[in-house]
Amino acid sequence: MRAVLSIGSNMDDRVELLCTVFTEFREDIVAASPVYATPPWGVTDQDEFLNAVLIVDVDESPKELLRRGQKLEEAAERVRVRHWGPRTLDVDIVDIEGYTSDDPELTVPHPYAHERAFVLIPWLAADGGARLSGEGVAKRVAALDPKERADIRRLGMMEEL
Ligand code: AMP
Repeated sequence: MRAVLSIGSNMDDRVELLCTVFTEFREDIVAASPVYATPPWGVTDQDEFLNAVLIVDVDESPKELLRRGQKLEEAAERVRVRHWGPRTLDVDIVDIEGYTSDDPELTVPHPYAHERAFVLIPWLAADGGARLSGEGVAKRVAALDPKERADIRRLGMMEEL
């Protein structure tokens, strides 16, 4: 099963936290985007996020993949410095090839992440031919608000950070 994961962190050791996901999926990664610095979405008075997209090939079921991501989020919570601080690590399943679900526990394609610039831009970088619900991701990126697109800065590949 091929899946698209969006990962993000806006804590101090953001690279290290994202790195835990790269490590967990190291055997399964088909393609990885560079890491991007992105403005916080929604609540804007918090630090910048680092975001990346991983395309993985895994043997487990969609729910098992969700659990795997949640375990990484839980492990990240344990290293949280401030209790009410910003998000340590977010692992979202953006899309799964040949699979859709409207289960609130696991909605695929993801209900909103697949519309966000911080997902679409890295996704396109990881897979130039990416498609979502039959539409090219490149087309969606081109349709983004230019300001939103400009606010997303490529930092470099994970191994360079
Ligand atoms: P959030 O804290 O915003 O990342 O939301 C986490 C909740 O979203 C969890 O309870 C998940 O079960 C649920 N969820 C629904 N669809 C997805 C998805 N595609 N990827 C990750 N979490 C999901």
